[in-house]
Amino acid sequence: MDATSDATRMRLRYAGACRACGAALPHHSPAIFDEVAKEVVCLGCDADLRRVARAEAHSHSAGLGLAPAPGAAVGAEGDDALVIMSAVG
Ligand SMILES: [Zn+2]
Repeated sequence: MDATSDATRMRLRYAGACRACGAALPHHSPAIFDEVAKEVVCLGCDADLRRVARAEAHSHSAGLGLAPAPGAAVGAEGDDALVIMSAVG
């Protein structure tokens, strides 16, 4: 099972920075490209985000979430950036 429906593991065609931790991702380094957010995530953060997503699913099914998930905040930032970009361009 591989939940990569909206993110693709690839080698970057150009240098970027992980949207989650800000780590520099040099040209040709392996990373996850999120086609929805149009951003890259380093492999370490991708693993963390998947774990958070799974934990969120569990908390939803269990009832109340205990705390705002880091992944949700990252997603909100990504949406804001996308809105700004589309407003400009
Ligand atoms: Zn990262």
